[in-house]
Amino acid sequence: MQSDKIVFTGMRPTGKLHLGHYLGVIENMVKLQDEYKCYFFIADWHALTTKYDKTEGLKQDIIDVATDWLACGIDPNKSTIYVQSLIPETAELHIYLSMITPQNWVERDPNLKDMAKILRSKEGFASQINYGLMGYPVLMTADILSFNADFVPVGVDQVAHVELTRDIARRFNNIYKTDFFKETQPLLNSCPLLCGLDGNKMGKSFNNDIKISDTEEVTAKKVMSAITDRSRMRKDDPGHPDECEVAFKYWKIFGTQTEIEKVQCECQKGLRGCADCKRQLGTKINEKFAEIREKRKYYETHPEIVEKILLDGSQKAREEAKQVLSTVRKLVKMF
Ligand code: SF4
Repeated sequence: MQSDKIVFTGMRPTGKLHLGHYLGVIENMVKLQDEYKCYFFIADWHALTTKYDKTEGLKQDIIDVATDWLACGIDPNKSTIYVQSLIPETAELHIYLSMITPQNWVERDPNLKDMAKILRSKEGFASQINYGLMGYPVLMTADILSFNADFVPVGVDQVAHVELTRDIARRFNNIYKTDFFKETQPLLNSCPLLCGLDGNKMGKSFNNDIKISDTEEVTAKKVMSAITDRSRMRKDDPGHPDECEVAFKYWKIFGTQTEIEKVQCECQKGLRGCADCKRQLGTKINEKFAEIREKRKYYETHPEIVEKILLDGSQKAREEAKQVLSTVRKLVKMF
């Protein structure tokens, strides 16, 4: 049973998503849509803040993200799925919010500081921090407040964003003597973090990920490259599952309790070789994603259905955002 509280979250259009996205974000979104009125958006304007000169693949990247979402169980009959740039009302709201946001509130954003560091290490124009990037925390606030959301699901590292949204909403309410904007709260997401096959953070650009859309063969092959216990030389050497940097961590996420205990025990006694262990792990992961991948194939061969879902969702989202904007315009006393 859905409550009438609003949950709002989204992703940048990074193209095909990986298992880290599934476990860290999408699985939670699928659960939330049964409990709340959900808005899930694909943040193409946010993508432009750093990739304004690489837009050739943007449309396909949006379709790819939506295809993964739908395959994983995000249901357009339960949630509103939309594309950010199809809601111009958010851009107008962003203007009003920009006017009341002190510059130092934006500058304290930890992600912005990280991005600025990366950009500064580049050469020439690419090293500049553009105006759009500086304003992205306010744009994110406008995204959330376009639907006057109650909750935003976040990891601990993103709580600051929701705090900024609350600060800006409170300031708006004070300046325009209203209680129109709610004080959005973070919904802490405690999903397991899946590292990449090399033990670092999983990411497309690090070439260490397993994609939701990968075939069984590709998945099995990738899992064979996962780091294990580096001190183990022969397959009958006693192993140390706790020092098995990737494979055992994956078992802990994808295996049942009985399987995890079996792997641990056999590894410690030297009864299990790493190659066999990873072969079984690959099969396990493939089993978990079999249904999702089957569904994905359907959407992949019917991109027009995915596009229609995005257009319909965007139209629906726009109607809601229009109402919020109309109230904001009245409160700000625009013409
Ligand atoms: S047997 Fe499995 S758990 Fe043990 S070190 Fe090898 S891959 Fe890791």
